[in-house]
Amino acid sequence: MTCREIADFLMQYLDGELPRRQRATFELHLANCPACRVYVESYERTVTLARSSKSAADVSITESMPDELVRLILESRSRNS
Ligand SMILES: [Zn+2]
Repeated sequence: MTCREIADFLMQYLDGELPRRQRATFELHLANCPACRVYVESYERTVTLARSSKSAADVSITESMPDELVRLILESRSRNS
């Protein structure tokens, strides 16, 4: 699995929808790729935050955030307003 595929499968992975074999491959890549580990962790944190807070307005967008994260936060904001 490539870093690109990690990004593609991330949502399914977090939702527990990844088939067991793919999940194992996913986790194997994470174990060997610190960059993806950081990506997944920050993504997971933001998703949890966006889901738990009444409004994603509490989440501050920073320059270092991946585009995907920013998009998710902005989507969540427009849904709530
Ligand atoms: Zn990677």
